[in-house]
Amino acid sequence: MDKRHKKYGRVLLKISGEVLAGSRGYGIDPDEVTGIAHSIKDLVSHDIDVAVVIGGGNIIRGAQESAKGMERAVADYMGMLSTLINGMALQDKIEKIGLDSRLVSAFEIREICEPYIRRKCLSHFEKKRVVILAGGTGNPFFSTDTAAALRAAELGAEILLKATKVDGIYDKDPVNNADSVKFETLTYMEYLQGRFRVMDQTAVTLCQENSLPIVVFSVKDKSNILKAALGQSVGTLVG
Ligand code: UDP
Repeated sequence: MDKRHKKYGRVLLKISGEVLAGSRGYGIDPDEVTGIAHSIKDLVSHDIDVAVVIGGGNIIRGAQESAKGMERAVADYMGMLSTLINGMALQDKIEKIGLDSRLVSAFEIREICEPYIRRKCLSHFEKKRVVILAGGTGNPFFSTDTAAALRAAELGAEILLKATKVDGIYDKDPVNNADSVKFETLTYMEYLQGRFRVMDQTAVTLCQENSLPIVVFSVKDKSNILKAALGQSVGTLVG
């Protein structure tokens, strides 16, 4: 049963690098980032605390570089650095439209952001600051989806909003299968056993252990971010 019905007070928004690349497929599309920034502003105007975990796949994906011969841990650290570049781009747009924010990293780069300290992030929420979490978990062999699940759990987010380019989870790849069917809801177990690839298994397991619902939805329509945070039916709910 779809249990979405309420406005959430604190959300963790996961933005993948792919979303920031827009139609370019690589790098950062400034219009796309501006659109995301405006959606975040809508959340703040509805008095919703917002933490954003930013991906890096538009620049470097560790697994892909490693398949081409690079040491996996090196490639993963490069991937984590790419999330900082994206985080800086998002912070720039967020502040240009008048929101207060902090860019926080899982590892220290003092000149551009503050290190991740849970209690500091909680106090940023009290001051109505948007907290942009970059650097993933700070560890290689993980993904920013797992970072999103981890930070959502420790910062007390009530839902993980996974913004992607597809409008939910399908039984088959919707791009290559005209008869694919979208799920309105899935249990964690159905997701894990179905081996869906929208989010990695580690991230979903962490959400399951912490009873943290996930909504997977498309940001082609930016208003979906607010709709998901208000508990309206968009995309697929896993929980
Ligand atoms: N990464 C990592 N540890 C983390 C998070 C990310 O090593 O905790 C690296 C990994 O190489 C990953 C890259 O950073 O491929 C970019 O993150 P991700 O692929 O999750 O970004 P997204 O797909 O959301 O754009």
